[in-house]
Amino acid sequence: MAPLPVVYGTKGRIEPLLDPAILGRFADLPQQGKISAEYVWLGGTMQDLRCKTRVLDKAPKSVADLPKWNYDGSSTDQAPGHDSEVYIVPQRIYKDPFRGGENIIVLCDCYEPPRQLPDGSLSELKVIPTNTRAACAAAMEKAKGEEPWFGIEQEYTLLNHTNKRPLGWPECGFPGPQGPYYCSVGSGSAIGRDIVEAHLKACYFAGVKISGVNAEVMPAQWEYQVGPCEGIQMGDDLWMSRYILYRICEVYNVEATFDPKPVPGDWNGAGGHTNFSSKATRADGSGWDAIQEQIKKLEKNHAKHIAAYGEGNERRLTGKHETSSMHDFSWGVANRGASIRVGRSVPVEKSGYYEDRRPASNLDPYVVTKLIVETTLL
Ligand code: ADP
Ligand code: MN
Ligand code: MN
Ligand code: MN
Ligand code: MN
Repeated sequence: MAPLPVVYGTKGRIEPLLDPAILGRFADLPQQGKISAEYVWLGGTMQDLRCKTRVLDKAPKSVADLPKWNYDGSSTDQAPGHDSEVYIVPQRIYKDPFRGGENIIVLCDCYEPPRQLPDGSLSELKVIPTNTRAACAAAMEKAKGEEPWFGIEQEYTLLNHTNKRPLGWPECGFPGPQGPYYCSVGSGSAIGRDIVEAHLKACYFAGVKISGVNAEVMPAQWEYQVGPCEGIQMGDDLWMSRYILYRICEVYNVEATFDPKPVPGDWNGAGGHTNFSSKATRADGSGWDAIQEQIKKLEKNHAKHIAAYGEGNERRLTGKHETSSMHDFSWGVANRGASIRVGRSVPVEKSGYYEDRRPASNLDPYVVTKLIVETTLL
């Protein structure tokens, strides 16, 4: 059979073969008691989210009610073909904003499948190398008494899926220089807002702790914030927020990229500023001293943090475009050119949180939050 023609319409969608409005006709059909559980996990590049659906006969009350499952790890570069199973363990349940109703999305992490031991029992679960969640969860458990809170500012760029140029940019040449786009309104400035709005609503519904959105400095670049979240929830909610963004972008046939420097040259890169506080930094009166102590520890471990703060971050952390140089550690009050920025109000109120501006937009939040907790609290 000849391949079907792909027709791009004026809005960049594939028309009329995959008109998203048509899906709506099926969305309200009763499910006859069935629940769709979309299992989501991280694949072999550690940036690729993967998912598949499992149909359940009743809604789970917690992750303990959910079956563990597996997938073909040889297709995600996480296992050899001759022993291809990767085992997935449900860790957090979100409401599914795409299917609605009682349907859920289940965030999982990845293990080697348990093997039968000579005495017939099953071996203990062993994480596979790409599972960064398990070690993060262990560090958060150790630091629980210190109540670590995080808020991550997730910057990203929308790309035209057909030519990979930022959405709304001319096919040749460039839009006008940066200046008008940050927190902008107007069709020439705030490009792709429909996606941002849909993402915000979908995150509310899902139960992702989103706390704000804004247009960024480069046209077609946006930011949303997730937090404050305590402990392991930060990594879980950020990964789920990214999953939701990718799914919404599917509908619009637009691509979201977390590349830290999607356009080289005089255009802002994309970061993943990580805001942090602990019981000690939030303590009335003594918090500012605790923050300064923690910053000293971060300074000593600068190289270790930089190495783990995102692939390609060296293209972004140049010392220009509101970044610090990756080679030097610095901190300052209200300074957007420093590695660590402390808010104006902190030395005044003598307590609060601070911002690690070094992580790139493609940070693995499990890796970054674990390092911050280990360096400052453990
Ligand atoms: P910026 O001024 O750098 O653009 P944003 O308003 O974008 O800052 O983001 C601030 C982030 O800090 C949010 O994600 C918010 O949830 C988080 N945050 C607020 N209070 C705290 C706190 N006490 N501890 C950790 N994070 C916090
Ligand atoms: Mn199959
Ligand atoms: Mn921000
Ligand atoms: Mn920003
Ligand atoms: Mn920031």
